[in-house]
Amino acid sequence: MGRFIPLSVPNFEGNERKYVDDAIDQGWVSTGGAYITKLERQLAEFLHTENAAACQSGTAALHLSLIEAGIQPGDMVIVPALTFIAAVNPVKYQFAEPVFIDCDDGFCMDPAKLNEFCENECELIDGKLIYKADGRHIKAVIVVHVFGNMADMVSIMKTARKYRLKVIEDATEALGSRYTAGELSGKYAGTIGDFGAFSFNGNKIITTGGGGAVTAKDPAAAEHIRYLSTQAKDDPQYYIHNEVGYNYRMTNIQAAVGVAQMEELPEFIGRKQANFEKYRTLFEGFELCRLMPFREGTSSNKWFYSLEINREKVSADMREIISALEEKGIQTRAIWGLISEQRPYVDSPSYRLEKAPYYAERILNIPSSTNITDEEIVYVAGQIKKVLEGFSCDKQ
Ligand SMILES: *Cc1c(COP(=O)(O)O)cnc(C)c1O
Repeated sequence: MGRFIPLSVPNFEGNERKYVDDAIDQGWVSTGGAYITKLERQLAEFLHTENAAACQSGTAALHLSLIEAGIQPGDMVIVPALTFIAAVNPVKYQFAEPVFIDCDDGFCMDPAKLNEFCENECELIDGKLIYKADGRHIKAVIVVHVFGNMADMVSIMKTARKYRLKVIEDATEALGSRYTAGELSGKYAGTIGDFGAFSFNGNKIITTGGGGAVTAKDPAAAEHIRYLSTQAKDDPQYYIHNEVGYNYRMTNIQAAVGVAQMEELPEFIGRKQANFEKYRTLFEGFELCRLMPFREGTSSNKWFYSLEINREKVSADMREIISALEEKGIQTRAIWGLISEQRPYVDSPSYRLEKAPYYAERILNIPSSTNITDEEIVYVAGQIKKVLEGFSCDKQ
């Protein structure tokens, strides 16, 4: 047959080649150049925020945010258990300790459990949140807007204010998601907390091959992040460095791709949203799985689509389902395993994980590229239904 429908591939329909050629022609290929500044301005404007600093990856964006938030060896950072591990690894880069919190039904951090954890397991001493079990100082919380679905930031910000936590939003999957109702109406993912991290990796809604950006509430923090990301160079001519810096700055070639991708972002979001509606209609009323909705009161970029497999009726494990679909030329993927169960994190504390393990066994991501065709969507939905029916417990 030869048919292959990938999970999520980049889309270069715009000015990418033109701008990259231009960057190369000008000789500005490294960590300086006009495209970097232009991309930062485009991002800030799009997100209705003051400033954005472009860097090498979403992971670097998170690391820089943690450094800027003052996370030091021995500190603690509250993190989600169900997400991509890159959201948590930078905590370890700072020799700090993560503590894992459960998710809600949108796969994002459960705000009630976050609050409960702070209330029951910690105490505020001299304005510092102290983890009662070992006396560590909890300084920050990392909130991930999973698959483009916005976390309940109203509740999370309330808890963070009450307990003096810095808020780092991992918006790597949520560029363009925003609130449309309530007290945060109009606010974009990554612009609500103290810091927001974005990723332009190949599978994200826009890509620069690899790349990322940080937004910061405080303009001085954004400037300091730029400084740290360019080896903390204090002087343009002489090699004066007053801090330990990093080689985390985005290159002008990456930024050239990014500027072209930003021009297409509204179109990409529109397609993701329209395709989600098509899938929704196709899965409506089907009892072996359901298409997971996005949070009400928000407009999501709908980066990734998720099916919840009905475990009452389908007992096949994810590997069997994924292989059966692969034979039909359809690439799907299981949601992540819990980070708290990965080897580097088995000794880190976690708090009442219930929904995270529940969804870890049930969620399947399905093809969501911006260039998927209507015919492919119909084929994907039809084949998924057939495969799940084949595994149905009701089948005689
Ligand atoms: C992609 C991703 C990252 C890391 O971004 P990179 O650019 O690949 O470093 C971090 N967190 C989440 C939730 C992601 O999906």
